[in-house]
Amino acid sequence: MTHADTGRTPCIEERLAAARDYAPRYRALVPGFGPLPSIPLAVVTCMDARIIPSHILGAPEGRIQVMRNAGGLVTDDVVRSLVVSQRRLRTREILVLQHTGCGMASFTDEDLLAEIEQDAGARPGWAPGAFGDVEASVRDGVARLRACPWLVDATRVAGAVFDLADGSVRVVA
Ligand SMILES: [Zn+2]
Repeated sequence: MTHADTGRTPCIEERLAAARDYAPRYRALVPGFGPLPSIPLAVVTCMDARIIPSHILGAPEGRIQVMRNAGGLVTDDVVRSLVVSQRRLRTREILVLQHTGCGMASFTDEDLLAEIEQDAGARPGWAPGAFGDVEASVRDGVARLRACPWLVDATRVAGAVFDLADGSVRVVA
């Protein structure tokens, strides 16, 4: 059986079966976990499966907080999560980490909204958030966080671009 529209094989059951095998590994890891992330860093990044924040940043598993969405954009919901992260989980620094070759730079909001409208008969109330220049997008996100009145005063915010071609990280803000 495959998905008619993509030809790809269904995967939920297989992944849930694999999750049973993870349980002993988790129980071995968990004694090292406290209620707060031991590295006080929150990373805002793209949902792209090739972005593996703990590997990129050399952070042991389970030590940093990660907020992901399409693009790694600083949306209202990311701000909501960051405020909870800072005020209840005591993270104090934020890294906005987007990447080269992001799918969000491959279409326009109007393209996607028109496609949705064609299929669903109406447009959603949100903007997809496509962007043209990844560095400008990172800088926009960093500027929004630096101006955010709900984060704690000590907030340190940086922005960087991960290069999918060679695995390097370039700091841009
Ligand atoms: Zn992406």
